[in-house]
Parts: sequence; C-alpha cells; structure tokens
Amino acid sequence: MHETGISEEELFSFLSLKKREDSNYHHVLSSMCTVPHPVAVRAHQMFIEANLGDPGLFKGTASIEELLVERIGALFHHAGAGGYATSGGTESNLQALRIYAKMKESRRPNVIVPESAHFSFEKACDILHLEMRTVPCDETFRMDTGAMQERIDGNTCCIVGIAGTTEYGVVDPIREVAGIAHDGGVPLHVDAAFGGLVIPFLKKPMPFDFALPGVASIAVDPHKMGMSTIPCGCLVVRDPAWFNLLNVETPYLTVKQECTLAGTRSGGAVVGAFAVLEYLGMSGMKAVVEGCMKNTVRLIEGMETLGYRRAVTPDLNVATFEAGAVPPGWRVSWTRRGHMRTVMMPHVHRDVIEEFLRDVGEMNA
Ligand SMILES: *Cc1c(COP(=O)(O)O)cnc(C)c1O
Repeated sequence: MHETGISEEELFSFLSLKKREDSNYHHVLSSMCTVPHPVAVRAHQMFIEANLGDPGLFKGTASIEELLVERIGALFHHAGAGGYATSGGTESNLQALRIYAKMKESRRPNVIVPESAHFSFEKACDILHLEMRTVPCDETFRMDTGAMQERIDGNTCCIVGIAGTTEYGVVDPIREVAGIAHDGGVPLHVDAAFGGLVIPFLKKPMPFDFALPGVASIAVDPHKMGMSTIPCGCLVVRDPAWFNLLNVETPYLTVKQECTLAGTRSGGAVVGAFAVLEYLGMSGMKAVVEGCMKNTVRLIEGMETLGYRRAVTPDLNVATFEAGAVPPGWRVSWTRRGHMRTVMMPHVHRDVIEEFLRDVGEMNA
C-alpha cells in the first residue's frame, strides 16, 4: 500500500486505463454474460450497500429476494418453491448436491451427470466427496437416457439434467429423465443456469421444470439471460424445508440460521435481477429471447452459406460450427470437442452478426 493515499484524479485515471484493457462486449460472441439491463444497473446502485448475509438489517432487500424466488418459482410452474439467490450456477449446483447428499445418508454416494455438464459439477463432487458417474451423450449432444438409467444404483443421491448446455445450447430429454428419476425415487436436479431464462420465453417451450413431478430442483442464472448485474444466480427447490438440511446457527447476526454457502451476499445484484423481470414482464422477455433466437438462426444460415457446417441444431441461442479460424478482433470460444462456439446474448445485435459474417467471408477471400 501507499504510505499516504493517491489523489482521486490519479486513481481514476489509472482505473480508466485498466478499464480500457477490458472488453466492452461489442465483439464478444463467447460469453453467457452480457451488458446488464439499465434498470438492473439503476436498481443495483440504489441497493449498493445491502448485505443479504444479514437480512434483518436489510428487510426490504430480503423481501425482494423472496419476491425474486416467488417470480422464478411461478415461472417454473411451482409457486410454492423454496429458494435463494446464489452467486451463480456454480453455487446453485453445489448447494443442490449438498442437499441430496445429506438426504441420502449413504457412505459412498454417487451423482449421475451427463458428459455435457458444466465443470461446476466437478468442483461440487470434489468438495462433497461424491462419486461423479458420467453419462455419454447421443450424436445431438443430449444425455443418453438408457445409459443414464444403467448407472443408477442404491447409492445414487441425485441425477443431473441440463436444460441448455453451456457448450451446445441443447436441452436434455428432461421429461424422460424426470420420469426415470421419479420412478426410481431419485431426485432430479435440472441445471438451467443458462436455459432457465430462455426456455419459458420460447414460442414452444420444452418441458424442463416443476411441472414434471420428477424435477426436485432447478439452478437458473439471472446474470446470464436475465441481464442482471453480476453476481446473481438462483437455486429453487420443490420443498422449501429441504434448506433446513443446510442450516447452521448464526450467532451475532440478526437471524438465527443460514442455509446459504456465502455469508455476505450482494443485495444489489439480487434487486437488479428482480428489477429486470418486473420491468420487462413476460412480453419483454419473450421479445428479448425471440431476438436472440432469430440472430442464432441467421448466424447458422450465414455460416453455412460460407461453407461452415453447424455442429448441431441448438434449442437455445448458442451456435456451434465445424470451423477452425476466427477473424481478428472477434472473441469466440471452443468446445471440448473442438467446435467453434458462439452465444447470441442480448448484446450481440443483428448488425454484429452481419459484421462477423462479413469478416469471416473476407478472411476466406
Ligand atoms: C454458466 C453455467 C454454469 C455456471 O454458472 P456460474 O454463474 O458461472 O457459476 C453452470 N451450468 C450451466 C449450464 C451454465 O451455463
């Protein structure tokens, strides 16, 4: 540290310099995060000091968190769902597995996870000492339900299905998986970190939520397609009492018990997430998702015209290609199978897609 502080001017000119090293999202096709919606930014600023780790001091913020959970529960066809705002999909997935590991009380518990799952399950299984049984996917990168069923045994504490894979934007056959889970008495956790705020707004939503009796819990990330500020994820569970399994006593706080993983938690981002859903409503979210889906179709069509085949036809706004090179200045990412991966987030406007296609075309010329 400096012995005496530097001037505000000097400080902020340093920060601006660093800020310029950051990307401004303009040519970013690789991210599932996006520029936050202006109402999220305004709401976040308004609640900047609110700490949900001590909800008795921030009763208003805590009640907004409850409203957010209520809205998401209702959106997922279960108004009585329990839940709380996490730091993102990683924490939501970890906490869901933590609940099921405790419920099972097996000495060698295992979790069944498709090979397409997000790497957060690897972290969760490591932390919780769970055996992770990986299930292969079919040629469309969706979980093979036959192979899934074979892996279930008496020590299985949870099955994981993905409603919108991070890499390919496809949805596992959740109805079928939920049926198998329900018949086998094994809870199904649906990782809808990305898809949870896309699928309900599609013209023809595929079943993935609490409307299916086998679905026990869902992870969804407002800080992705919910356009909130970072960090805001949400874990919703069928029975709110399950969170009692995670409760610890909290001396010296305004509440007696806490089931969250984090202690101090950002209230600002949670209010931001709520603000976007309230402000846009169903019709606004549908319009955003429709735009992202149209852009996805346009990019796939444009890339195929240029000779790059799609890796799969996605369910959501993720497009993947058999392609090797990227025009300079653009950020895309690569899947574990080596496909070029792009995500048509709200900041990826139609003119950005056309610019990208032009640059890809010129790169080939
Ligand atoms: C993004 C994502 C995660 C991880 O979420 P974080 O917010 O980065 O912790 C988990 N699962 C899926 C399917 C995701 O797309």
